[in-house]
Amino acid sequence: MAYDDQNIFARILRGELPAIKVYEDDKVLAFMDIMPQAEGHTLIIPKTPAITLLDLPGEDAAYTIQIVQKIAKAIEKGLGAKGIVLMQLSGASAGQTVPHVHFHLIPSSVHELGKHAATMGDTDKIKAQAEKIKSAL
Ligand code: AMP
Repeated sequence: MAYDDQNIFARILRGELPAIKVYEDDKVLAFMDIMPQAEGHTLIIPKTPAITLLDLPGEDAAYTIQIVQKIAKAIEKGLGAKGIVLMQLSGASAGQTVPHVHFHLIPSSVHELGKHAATMGDTDKIKAQAEKIKSAL
């Protein structure tokens, strides 16, 4: 399958759609999930156009996971998270809904996750969580 450069995350990367950002550098963007499965649900995406983890060049995967760890530490410190679920869905069969590779960090327990991509969160609350994560980076 060819990469669709009109997917939501590609449009966020180009600044065509808004995002509540917590971290950005030349290779990676981290921003809040607007339909969080728990408070503080954050997404980390490499800027490389790749659909799934399987399509992502190894060096981009290696760099992105370093940023995933950096954001996880900020979630722990900034939000006082006791546990964090790292989730990565590759392929529609796995439940992937946005065809640009991304990692979910969800401060929760695997036993308590809300439904996936189901309910819009409260924007003001999400923005406040983002500020706490940013201040802990
Ligand atoms: P996946 O199903 O693994 O592809 O995850 C896509 C995630 O993106 C879901 O958790 C959605 O809630 C989230 N999402 C969809 N649209 C947006 C958006 N515009 N900004 C932030 N998160 C989004």
